[in-house]
Amino acid sequence: MAPAAGGAAALRPSASPAIPVAMKRFTGQDRSITDKWRPATLAVRGGTARSDFGETSEAIFMTSGYAYDSAGEAAARFRGERPGMTYSRLQNPTTEMLEKRIALLEGAEAARATTTGMAAMSAALLCQLSAGDHLVAGRSLFGSCRVLVDSILPRFGIETTTVDARDTDAWAKARRPNTKAFFLETPSNPGLEVSDLRAIADIGHDAGACIVVDNAFASPIVQRPMEHGADVVAYSATKLMDGQGRVLAGAVASSEQWMNDVYLAFARHTGPNLSPFNAWVVLKSLETLDLRVRRSCENALKVATFLESRIPRCLYPGLASHPQHALAMQQMAMGGTIIALFLDGGREQAHALLDGLELIDISNNLGDSRTLMTHPASTTHYSVSAEVRDQMGITEGMLRLSIGLEDPQDLIDDLDQALRRAGL
Ligand SMILES: *Cc1c(COP(=O)(O)O)cnc(C)c1O
Repeated sequence: MAPAAGGAAALRPSASPAIPVAMKRFTGQDRSITDKWRPATLAVRGGTARSDFGETSEAIFMTSGYAYDSAGEAAARFRGERPGMTYSRLQNPTTEMLEKRIALLEGAEAARATTTGMAAMSAALLCQLSAGDHLVAGRSLFGSCRVLVDSILPRFGIETTTVDARDTDAWAKARRPNTKAFFLETPSNPGLEVSDLRAIADIGHDAGACIVVDNAFASPIVQRPMEHGADVVAYSATKLMDGQGRVLAGAVASSEQWMNDVYLAFARHTGPNLSPFNAWVVLKSLETLDLRVRRSCENALKVATFLESRIPRCLYPGLASHPQHALAMQQMAMGGTIIALFLDGGREQAHALLDGLELIDISNNLGDSRTLMTHPASTTHYSVSAEVRDQMGITEGMLRLSIGLEDPQDLIDDLDQALRRAGL
């Protein structure tokens, strides 16, 4: 009987089985193809691998282990003689797709995804530093990075010196014979200090140091530190990469050699790697990374332009009034998504402004599609000493504004009314 053209017959299961083959083939992408793609394309398609099902959206492989066809196959994989996965602390197909995509976006040979940004920062430093080694770090770092440098690394006999990262000579003076790494953030959190990556990298390389850059504030759409001499780029992917305030994640990108010989020698056995589910969430987010980051940067420039005319002092790398504006525009494709506001009325006025907001959320996260505002001195940088906050330019009247994807005029209207409520 000929198949009916419609009706109930069309709903009958087809003769061919729904699951035609086991998922055996899992092919990655050829670098000779992806090397031709531009960032917006890489953000959507970079690193995608498809199973025999030909799924368009990346699959989530929620598995901790892998089964082998034979004992010999298992042994060969452990010896590294045959390709294939052995355990999800070491490899996972979904996480690997994310890692390949981040590496391609960063222009790096290799990347590894981590559970959080702090896992990325701590692993990127601990994997290469030993007791007796010396680290030079920019003094304006994300709060937990500062705790890592000031309090945690010294517990393991790693000496640290912090410098004003904008002062190139200070990096040169801080070098010692045992200096193994430089660590910095540009633009910095939350003071938006911009440092000269190329000059600092050259100084570090002269001393044989590895240059590690925390690029969470910029994302690879705004800044690719390896193009300016960085050896290792570390991310909080919680921020712009997920960008929708859903998961914590991080990443470390570098050369293949450093990844294998230095990072993985540490990370394979300490286990900071990202779960496949969270990797999948970030993979989905990266599809819109280029769109989101561009739009947020455009919004930020509009809001910063308004704030500049409305309050005594604000900082945004995309404004000509930023002290390192020229350098910022040399290293960065856009001004970024973060603005710092400085109010003369101290903590009281800063808190009053936050409490007057109707649209913008009071939140210490950043890089979200929602615009978020925080008072660093009482939140993100609460755990660093008042003296260190002072050095970092974190005053009691400072607020950090992370611009999202809302209509910029609504953001401006909300800030305007909240400023009035705070007496400005
Ligand atoms: C948020 C952040 C981190 C830490 O990332 P988590 O994902 O919260 O662990 C590190 N550096 C910078 C610049 C950040 O903004």
